Amino acid sequence: MTSSQSDPSVGLCSRCRFARVTRSARGSSFWRCGKADEDPAFARYPSLPVVRCGGFVAAEAPPTEGG
Ligand code: SF4
Repeated sequence: MTSSQSDPSVGLCSRCRFARVTRSARGSSFWRCGKADEDPAFARYPSLPVVRCGGFVAAEAPPTEGG
């Protein structure tokens, strides 16, 4: 997946620079909002898909794993 593509089941987080994704061995993906670390107004694990978010900033690269 490139940064210009979004995952409809994830929504905005799939192309947000603050998103962190962890993939389990069974293939599940867990999306964490890195913005929540600095701003408690954001949920650490937002309900997906995120269709609107005031913190969204387009990522230049796909979300990093872990974190
Ligand atoms: S700032 Fe919004 S769009 Fe970005 S990772 Fe957090 S919840 Fe998702």
